[in-house]
Order: sequence, then structure tokens, then C-alpha cells
Amino acid sequence: MQLHSIDTGFFKLDGGAMFGVVPKKMWHKWNTPDVNNMCTWAMRCMLIEDGDRLVLIDTGIGDKQSEKFFSYFEPHGEDSLLESLKNKGFHPDDITDVLLTHLHFDHCGGAVYRDKEGMSRTQFKNATYWSHEEHWKSAMEPNPREKASFLKENFVPIEANGQLKFLKDGEHLLDSLSVKTVSGHTEAMMIPHIDYKGKTIVYAADLLPSAAHIPLPYVMAYDVQPLQTLKEKASFLNTTVEQEQILFFEHDPVNQCCTTQMTEKGVRLGEILRLEDVL
Ligand SMILES: [Zn+2]
Repeated sequence: MQLHSIDTGFFKLDGGAMFGVVPKKMWHKWNTPDVNNMCTWAMRCMLIEDGDRLVLIDTGIGDKQSEKFFSYFEPHGEDSLLESLKNKGFHPDDITDVLLTHLHFDHCGGAVYRDKEGMSRTQFKNATYWSHEEHWKSAMEPNPREKASFLKENFVPIEANGQLKFLKDGEHLLDSLSVKTVSGHTEAMMIPHIDYKGKTIVYAADLLPSAAHIPLPYVMAYDVQPLQTLKEKASFLNTTVEQEQILFFEHDPVNQCCTTQMTEKGVRLGEILRLEDVL
């Protein structure tokens, strides 16, 4: 089995929204905002090569929305989903499975593209796309708070094309890849757990978007149930310490992975790592 980090570029989100109740005086050291208080975040996907399976976790923001839409989020950087896959030696048609942690646009935008005729097509035509049934339902009939994050053109074509399947909490997609669901950020977001050489790598998605979000009060204002996130974070972080797990960050603009450690203040960052160091 081989793991690859797949960089799909950066985008910007309001620093206040990303750090919730934590004052800027404290968070600005982690991520310096621009004049509009926008901070830069990565969209870092993961590719798992295992026998004849090639599993992609999340797909970045994609490129099919309007200029006006992208002007709010300012996608930038050298990397793109397809270029990064190509650099690792893969073609989109090689992908057998796409695991979408959740259906917010910065996670599933690359799942579907618009062709020259303006037709929506799934980017990975040979892949099964995996979502969570309860999450899918909530994305199809979103609450007013999350509506702007669920863009139907990013995921409806997956089902229309017959490529959609669902995973359940605790279910395995590979022997070495299972998911745990959490519902503080959004209904039934899937957190992939990858077992590799006796270690567990946790793809932290939006439960812990960056290393800055490890202390418990650092909960995004986007979360639909922040108190639930607090509980879920506490439980996940304790497990990372107990089991010496490695966190893989989707949105951290600098840090790819880290270990954690227990301190008198609670769980904190241990060692910053690159995925290559872990493997
Ligand atoms: Zn996100």
C-alpha cells in the first residue's frame, strides 16, 4: 500500500469564521490574514494505492462555478487535482473509488466537471463515489445555514450517473481504510482512518482543519453543532494520543501531518511531519 498527498491548491476563508469564538489576537499567529481578514487554506486530498484499488479522498474545489463565486474564495496556487494526480503517475480513469468526507464545495467540487458543451460529467468515470446516506440527504435538502456550501452541481451528477454508494459509520472501504462519522461540523461527515505499517493515519477533514485547531475552543463558526464538535474533538484527540495516531490535515496551509501529545492544558500538537516521514 502506498499513500500520496494530492495538493489541489489554496483558497481563502474569513479568519473569524475559521476560528469561531477564539479572538483574532490569539489565532493570527497561526494564520496571518490579508487586509480583508481572509486567511489562506490548503485543499489537500489523499490518494491510497492498494492492490488494484486506487482510492481518492476528497477532490478540492474544482473549477466549474462562476467567476463571482470564485472571487469570494480566491482559489490560487500552482497545484490542481488533475496535475497532482498526473505528477504521481495517474490518470483520472485509473481511480476506482472516491471517498467524499462531506459535500461542502471545497471538498467535492473536483468530483464533477463541466465539459466544453456545458454538460456536467463525473471527473472519475470508472470510480464508485462514496458518501454517507444521512449526509447525502442533508445536502440534498440543506438547512438555510449550510445551503451556500452545498452546491448541487458538485454532487447530483454522481447519483444521476449511477456512481453513488454509501458507507456507514465504522465500515471499511479497504481492509486498511475505515470511516468514523461525526456530526458537529455537518451531518455525518466521514473521517477516514488509514492503517499503515502499524500506525493509524487520521484524515482529519473539517473536524480538525489545521494544526491550529487542536486546542478544544478552536471550533469553526461554520459548524452546525459546535458543542457536538467539542465532544467529538475531545474524543478523537484523546484517541490520537492513546494510540499514537497521526493527523493528516486537509486545510492546513503549511503542515501536512502531525502527532499529538497530552499536556497539562490538554491535547496539543506533538511533532510536525510530512507524509513521507510517516511512510
Ligand atoms: Zn472544508
